[in-house]
Amino acid sequence: MRIDLHTHSVMSDGTDTPSELVRAAASAGLDVVAITDHDTTAGWEEAVGALPSGLTLIRGAELSCVSTAGNGRPISVHLLAYLFDPQAPALVEEQRRLRVERRERLQRMAVRMAADGLPIDPDEVMASLPADGAAGRPHLARALVEAGLVSTVSEAFDKYLGSGGSYYLRRADTPVKRAIAMIADAGGVAVLAHPWAYSRGPTVADDVIVELAEAGLSGVEVDHPDHDPGTRERLRKLAAELDLLTTGSSDYHGANKPTPIGAETTDPEVYERLVARANGRTPVRG
Ligand code: AMP
Ligand code: ZN
Ligand code: FE
Ligand code: FE
Repeated sequence: MRIDLHTHSVMSDGTDTPSELVRAAASAGLDVVAITDHDTTAGWEEAVGALPSGLTLIRGAELSCVSTAGNGRPISVHLLAYLFDPQAPALVEEQRRLRVERRERLQRMAVRMAADGLPIDPDEVMASLPADGAAGRPHLARALVEAGLVSTVSEAFDKYLGSGGSYYLRRADTPVKRAIAMIADAGGVAVLAHPWAYSRGPTVADDVIVELAEAGLSGVEVDHPDHDPGTRERLRKLAAELDLLTTGSSDYHGANKPTPIGAETTDPEVYERLVARANGRTPVRG
């Protein structure tokens, strides 16, 4: 069994439509794929409709959260939510709020970049976003690539869009413990995405993960492209101490990132335990 539990479609900042995403998963030889767009479930229906036979779809999302534990400085954290009820009122409302906030923030970033003479047309960028989807910095990065200013999305992040860069703007993301409670209320399972992806900015300390485990976190994403071997080893050890599930996934973003779908995978036994904990939605088999 080959299982990839973290992928993005055009409903957030990936470049595959949900149909293309599930077909890419099947072509890569996966048995299970999770669709986890940022702050939206807008891709679920199309993905289910296009599911190739033999492939199982896990319906999920990646929630944009913030942790203020430790010294109180806000640190961005991503929470993978699986198999939750997409109509649970608190979660629906919070995701809607975040999508509005994401659009406004992206527009402000685009306007600032254009004002400085960067080849960005804010109206064009905003018009290109999917209606019910989540806008993100990769949309601006792609516009810079298409304008020829940089050659890759990564280069755009390094030069302009990273959290230390001059055009970066924060968002008011969901306090992570509140998000864990909302996912639980919706019958879903919460897994902390790439907790120690240092290259993207500051990451949470061990004691924050301890607190989140106490607050109902089910697992941590250990095998992720942004984790080096030493990081994986330390995280796996901490997870074992806290009795957290450990997942692996590609965080596939289509052409927006170099990692192919299925590049990292989750142990089938861990997958079974994760599915057994959910009661909001069930896996769908094509
Ligand atoms: P946002 O949600 O707008 O804050 O943008 C975050 C998204 O940008 C995440 O989905 C990441 O996958 C992507 N991202 C963050 N850092 C980088 C980077 N250095 N290179 C490419 N993509 C990145
Ligand atoms: Zn993303
Ligand atoms: Fe993420
Ligand atoms: Fe992601």
